[in-house]
Amino acid sequence: MTTSEAIAGRELETLRAALTGAVFTPGDHGYDQARQAWNLAVDERPAAVVMAESDADVAHAVWFARWHGIRVAPQGTGHGSVPLEPLEGAMLLRTVRMRGARIDPITRTARAEAGALWQDVTLPAGRHGLAALAGSSPNVGVTGYTLGGGIGWLARRYGLAANSVTAAELVTPDGRLLTANADHEPDLFWAVRGGGGSVGVVTALQMRLYPVRELYAGALFFPIQRAAQVLHAWRAWTDEVPDEVTSVGRILRLPPLPQLPEAIAGRDFVVVEAACLGDESAGAELIAPLRRLAPELDTFAMIPAPALQQLHMDPGEPVPGQGDGAFLTDVPAAAIDAVVALAGPDADTPLASVEIRHLGGALARSAPGGGAQPSIDAKYLMFAGGLTPTSNVAAAVRAHVQAVKDSLAPWHAGYDYYNFEETPADASAVLPPASYRRLQKIKATYDPDQMIISTHPVWPARRRT
Ligand SMILES: Cc1cc2nc3c(=O)[nH]c(=O)nc-3n(C[C@H](O)[C@H](O)[C@H](O)COP(=O)(O)OP(=O)(O)OC[C@H]3O[C@@H](n4cnc5c(N)ncnc54)[C@H](O)[C@@H]3O)c2cc1C
Repeated sequence: MTTSEAIAGRELETLRAALTGAVFTPGDHGYDQARQAWNLAVDERPAAVVMAESDADVAHAVWFARWHGIRVAPQGTGHGSVPLEPLEGAMLLRTVRMRGARIDPITRTARAEAGALWQDVTLPAGRHGLAALAGSSPNVGVTGYTLGGGIGWLARRYGLAANSVTAAELVTPDGRLLTANADHEPDLFWAVRGGGGSVGVVTALQMRLYPVRELYAGALFFPIQRAAQVLHAWRAWTDEVPDEVTSVGRILRLPPLPQLPEAIAGRDFVVVEAACLGDESAGAELIAPLRRLAPELDTFAMIPAPALQQLHMDPGEPVPGQGDGAFLTDVPAAAIDAVVALAGPDADTPLASVEIRHLGGALARSAPGGGAQPSIDAKYLMFAGGLTPTSNVAAAVRAHVQAVKDSLAPWHAGYDYYNFEETPADASAVLPPASYRRLQKIKATYDPDQMIISTHPVWPARRRT
């Protein structure tokens, strides 16, 4: 029986009957909506879309797929769907209806179902004076972000989100619903913490939260003409700041959107964004050297931890977009000059943002009992991207992103960041080599037939005969 016969035939009715959620196949009303990723540039056409509503739904879908030899692509929001391989003949297993999140203020932990967005965790955690290791956007999924590492505003103090995961609940390719933690299924537990979602379909993650009620954070906006001066000053400043400060230096070209404040909409800037753990006077002292550069706009203030997710001004609604990133061993003056030449005031570029994130701190130290990304020895992380409303613009964005990457090649750290790699690439390109080799062995044990499709594929280690 072919994939489409299995999916079109009576068997499908059996799956439908078993699920609380829904199944859509091509031609069904709702198929197009169900397959639509958050990134509107992505046009995947799977043989079926399962909208799971529970871990039992996930298990039923995996059993069905296994029985019929269908490959399965787990997905939440579809923020990370650009590098995904074509899904023809495959099942897209979406978890967007599984958004439950529970905060335990006593143990300072959260349990987030697979489809939870970061705002589903950060907002209730914030009511208890707790912060999660979320990234820059409130509507990115907890699961995809965390499986790929997770570098957020508290990263230099508390490390990668993946290394704060205390347990992962998942359905393995043979249909078993397991809880992987330090004591049970340690290989699976290690693999999902930074190695991506290649060994099963995660149904929930449990993670540590941190006692951060408020912090000093904001952005300094300067006219783009000052890009070189400000980015050189920011780079020098990053050598001095403690782990309590995580910051980004970026060149930002804002679209003329009505939802943006009038003072910045439709304008081009060089911006420094930073989050400083501690009180207002300590934060103001840390920021002082950059403030002395006299920004046009200064938004630094004490803010509640959940408000950090507005700091980077990520799009609030689905958009078509494309970008790419690179881990950098260092960003010397020549690297800043290269970025300014390609994205600064004199550049003719379709890129909306070229940013450099400051890493180091806790990220650089091996997390005790950490997962597939135990530490990150790169000191900086670059990401460049733009909106891609047409295929011509998309091609131009890709070319300009590549040019930025090429110009920074002398400082490339050897592998890229899992979550920022939007060009199709094996997991070997986005993980430390030793981690990739261990992941291949785990893949060979749990998914030797490559049933699970993940953002960055892992090729199972070949067994010795
Ligand atoms: C606006 C924006 C801001 C971002 N900011 C940051 C940031 O600050 N820091 C950072 O580190 N990253 C950031 N990212 C990158 C982001 O972390 C990745 O795109 C991530 O993959 C998104 O996860 P998702 O669940 O939302 O996406 P999805 O596309 O739903 O998932 C991505 C991949 O994760 C895996 N996956 C998802 N759910 C499951 C599951 N239940 N079981 C098994 N595997 C699963 C699959 O391989 C899937 O293809 C940002 C991305 C965007 C678009």
